[in-house]
Amino acid sequence: MKPQVLQLDIQGTPQAWISQEQATSHYATGAVVWEDGAGPLATMRGGFNVARGVQSRFDISPIIALKGCARVNLFDQEPSFSRRKLFVRDRHTCAYCAQRFREQDLTVEHILPESRGGAWDFMNCVSACKACNSLKGARTPEEAGMKLVYLPYKPSRFEDFLLAGRNVRADVHEWLASRLPKGSRLS
Ligand SMILES: [Zn+2]
Repeated sequence: MKPQVLQLDIQGTPQAWISQEQATSHYATGAVVWEDGAGPLATMRGGFNVARGVQSRFDISPIIALKGCARVNLFDQEPSFSRRKLFVRDRHTCAYCAQRFREQDLTVEHILPESRGGAWDFMNCVSACKACNSLKGARTPEEAGMKLVYLPYKPSRFEDFLLAGRNVRADVHEWLASRLPKGSRLS
């Protein structure tokens, strides 16, 4: 998969991860107002200019800010929950035995069990290996006598973009990581 482009609003608030093709169309329509990153991700071909007899080419930056209104307000949107994002937040580390696992060997562990109304969200879930998850069963950590080696937290908007990105280039990771709150596990 080709590295994605981080789309910002004009103030620098992350809006979306987009494909290089989508970024090309923003360059072609003149919507890109500023760029950031360590250099172009790719050179893409745009539309064919009949009058000049040439095809336009665009150097696509990994971070682009677009003019127009923002769709995403940094402060009033809850990051959506997913297994994959949870595992990245927890650095693929089991919350009970503290060992690292591959994604397919991890499970979503509800601190307050689902059967007792525990929510499927960032505050009630941690990553756990299959062995620890089945050992804990439908009990709370206290009841099971199992201590959490780290605490759950809700990602900030910038963290959420880091968690959701796939194949993020190092300079873009840096750009987002430098804006994370102090104490984030992702920095
Ligand atoms: Zn474990």
